[in-house]
Amino acid sequence: MSNTKPLSLEEQQKILDWLDKKWLGTKTCNICGHNQWNLSQHVVAPTTLEGKNISLGGTIYPLVLVTCKNCGNTHFFNVVMVGLLRSSSDPGSEPDNG
Ligand SMILES: [Zn+2]
Repeated sequence: MSNTKPLSLEEQQKILDWLDKKWLGTKTCNICGHNQWNLSQHVVAPTTLEGKNISLGGTIYPLVLVTCKNCGNTHFFNVVMVGLLRSSSDPGSEPDNG
């Protein structure tokens, strides 16, 4: 399975719709005050560290990035919460496909 495949337009739209429902406050950047955001084209996955060693095959957190177009301030959103991916620790749960 490749993790480098960019999000499809459908997946991006699903994330944007989800964000619209969840992001109830002002959408201005809390750093610079602008209100234009860019959604990352990929799901990224920071992994855990065991001591100072990267734990390959350990727990990962699949995230999309929403970045302020003006200053780069970045919010991370867990795509399992969005419903785009299933949690590997909870194989019985299906994402809500509407
Ligand atoms: Zn900003």
